[in-house]
Amino acid sequence: MPRYEFRCRTCGATFELRRAMAQANDPAVCPQGHTDTTKLLSAIAVTGTASGGGAQAPSGGGGGCCGGGCCG
Ligand SMILES: [Zn+2]
Repeated sequence: MPRYEFRCRTCGATFELRRAMAQANDPAVCPQGHTDTTKLLSAIAVTGTASGGGAQAPSGGGGGCCGGGCCG
């Protein structure tokens, strides 16, 4: 069963869920109980773009827009 990664917009936590592909877009609930979550792209989908000689860093590396804190 594929894994899907989600991020909670309420507390900023990221978590993974295993669910059927048919349920991939179903709403996920944060381990803390929050329901305002968004599905992240799977790591498999973005693999292969790193090697190309590009100097640009990938966007959304994991926070850092405001010094490692949570931007909300
Ligand atoms: Zn949460």
